[in-house]
Amino acid sequence: MECPKCFGKTERVSAGNRIVERCLQCFGLFFYQLTQSMVDDLLLCVDIDTGKDELGVLSNEMVYVDCPNCNRIMDQRQIEGRHRIRFELCTSCYAVFLDAGELRQYTRPETLADFRSLLPGPA
Ligand SMILES: [Zn+2]
Ligand SMILES: [Zn+2]
Repeated sequence: MECPKCFGKTERVSAGNRIVERCLQCFGLFFYQLTQSMVDDLLLCVDIDTGKDELGVLSNEMVYVDCPNCNRIMDQRQIEGRHRIRFELCTSCYAVFLDAGELRQYTRPETLADFRSLLPGPA
């Protein structure tokens, strides 16, 4: 598919029993659906996040992202603090876009609970 953020091409990678789209250009990760209960599975496959953190910081500045599933503008979910979390979530189909490096950052012990709290339930 086409990356919803930078319009580059994506490749399909498997994360456990799920398919995730990884952008060949910005290395962002697109999840067709990501809810709180799916986070534990993700902990086992953070190595799909192969992009450099610096790429993610650059793409954080681009804001409007259209959900590739349903063409609505994705919401920005964020928590400001010592460990800033910011990503795009489609509130209609629960698709999630994470910039390069964000999966690795947000699944660390110090940010995991906050990250999970920003995703749609159930826990
Ligand atoms: Zn991209
Ligand atoms: Zn959507």
